[in-house]
Amino acid sequence: MRLQDSFGRAITDLRISVTDRCNYKCVYCRAGDEGASYTELPIADYLRIVRILVSLGIEKVRLTGGEPLLRTGLVEMVAELARMRTAFHADGSPLQAHEPGQPLDIALTTNGHLLESLAAPLAAAGLKRVTVSMDAVDPDTFARITRVPRSYERVLAGVHAAQEAGLGPIKINCVLLRGFNDHQIEPFADFSRRQGVIVRFIEFMPLEEPSAVEESRNWKPQTVVTMDEIMARLNTWRPSCNVPAGLVELPPRAASETAKRFTFADGVGEIGIIAPVSRPFCGHCSRIRITSDGALRTCLFSQSDHDLYGEMRRGATEQALAAYIRRVVMHKEARHHIGEPGFEKPSRNMVHIGG
Ligand code: SAM
Repeated sequence: MRLQDSFGRAITDLRISVTDRCNYKCVYCRAGDEGASYTELPIADYLRIVRILVSLGIEKVRLTGGEPLLRTGLVEMVAELARMRTAFHADGSPLQAHEPGQPLDIALTTNGHLLESLAAPLAAAGLKRVTVSMDAVDPDTFARITRVPRSYERVLAGVHAAQEAGLGPIKINCVLLRGFNDHQIEPFADFSRRQGVIVRFIEFMPLEEPSAVEESRNWKPQTVVTMDEIMARLNTWRPSCNVPAGLVELPPRAASETAKRFTFADGVGEIGIIAPVSRPFCGHCSRIRITSDGALRTCLFSQSDHDLYGEMRRGATEQALAAYIRRVVMHKEARHHIGEPGFEKPSRNMVHIGG
């Protein structure tokens, strides 16, 4: 039977972190110190985990981190993932021995700093899609956020290389923080139209490494720029003198789609808004995560994770690992509790989970 949780949600979507090292120190994500907090597995062990998960029903694999492009062997890992085939029909019934599966949907989330040289080899290896995180389209604001000089120019070159390598349409993810980069909403809409990329605004979640020095960067409900506010701003923005103001809603592509999608009156540009805080979508969650050190997490906000790699080290067979994964997934949380009284931050921060 296809992997599912106790609420009957089919688990088809895997995010796997291949390192928790990062070459950026985005102020809302990292405290600013160097280095990783968790170990990395050999690439072969990530691939063994993915193979087992694919046999259980995973169809989409997103590589993330930390910064995944820092990981040696990533291109070879993508090539191996591209050889794997799904094990179930769309309706959840298992494929018979003579039925060929589909290639996995392989995606990558990156800050784009190293993408200029890696986009073509990754595409050749079988990568299908790339999401680039950019929190400003103004070079100074960008460098203030990443704390890396001239990072904007590097990432823009990476986006162009990814487009040339056929990885488009590129998704650009932007986390908005009030009073910090919320002046970038309209420039991002313009960027989407000019660059031919999908811009997705994401509400800031309480997943940051807490900072004693920059207290103002720690999550507070007031810092979140909500979907309603973003829509209100873009509904009054006029793309050009011959295009009237106003967002035009696009239909969802799947029930589990996390973004509400919009274009403008002339159909140029695409804006997505992902609102885990103001409009949670946990009811449709189809995801699990593997951390860089091989822990299985059933929710971004889990209070603990499950030591899958420990089971592997102790010599568990594929069947035993599959049974372990099924047991863990049965306890997947119903939903997160952001903003509710008594909310507790998860056991790891975003950079150490894999976004
Ligand atoms: N280094 C890669 C990158 O920059 O895309 C992958 C890892 S990064 C942790 C993945 C995504 O998580 C980025 O888009 C980042 O902006 C987002 N992110 C980090 N902290 C977040 C938070 N507290 N709330 C919402 N998104 C966050």
